[in-house]
Amino acid sequence: MAKIQQPNIEEIRMKTDKTRQVLRFLAFLSICVFFLLAVGKFFLHREYFSFLSFIAIFLGSLLVADFLSGVMHWTFDTWGSSKTFLVGPLFIRPFREHHVDEKSITHHSFIQASTSGTATVIPICIAVLLIPLTGVISYSILMFVFLISVFVFLTNQIHKWAHMYNPPAIIRFLQKTHILLPQIDHHIHHIEPFTQSYAITTGWTNPFFTKFQFFRHTEKIITRITGAIPRADDIGVEAAKELMEKGN
Ligand SMILES: [Zn+2]
Ligand SMILES: [Zn+2]
Repeated sequence: MAKIQQPNIEEIRMKTDKTRQVLRFLAFLSICVFFLLAVGKFFLHREYFSFLSFIAIFLGSLLVADFLSGVMHWTFDTWGSSKTFLVGPLFIRPFREHHVDEKSITHHSFIQASTSGTATVIPICIAVLLIPLTGVISYSILMFVFLISVFVFLTNQIHKWAHMYNPPAIIRFLQKTHILLPQIDHHIHHIEPFTQSYAITTGWTNPFFTKFQFFRHTEKIITRITGAIPRADDIGVEAAKELMEKGN
């Protein structure tokens, strides 16, 4: 009798991951179509639309997306482990593995890179799309959330460009002009023990986080309330305690 071939678990896992990524990508694209149809009406209403308010919403959403990228990145770098329920395998593991092999992200496809944030963005988008559009405030909220979602969607791709030796010329220009996360800014994050420059969309909020020691203060509050040691799972309890005492 011919030898029964065992299924390759790793291959099956990769295929399932790829299918999930494509489905998430298509779901986000469909949501974009709904948003564009709704937002399109906003531009047709002369009484609602002003160019200055659009620029304010655009810049505000970039700023918020960058802030969120910093908070999410810090959360997954600092707390829990790859075994944490739901978020462990989905978010914590990729962030921790990225510190060990920072260049592997450059081999990810656009779909693989950009769909990592969609699990959180899609339910929020659906909720916002259900808001009845009655005037300038509801249209502005819709546009604001839509733009934040697009920038969150693009964040990991922007992060990938920050690691590439030779990103496209237009991306290099956007990095140099600080419109997208500059490579040098993100390089600071990859210096051990990975406790600075968490924001990875534009990097605009990194000086704010550093100046006010935002994450160190937040870590102290969380430790006081829960007793959890920041980075205990990532670098070991003793090293994490030492780092915490140094206030790094
Ligand atoms: Zn990190
Ligand atoms: Zn990185």
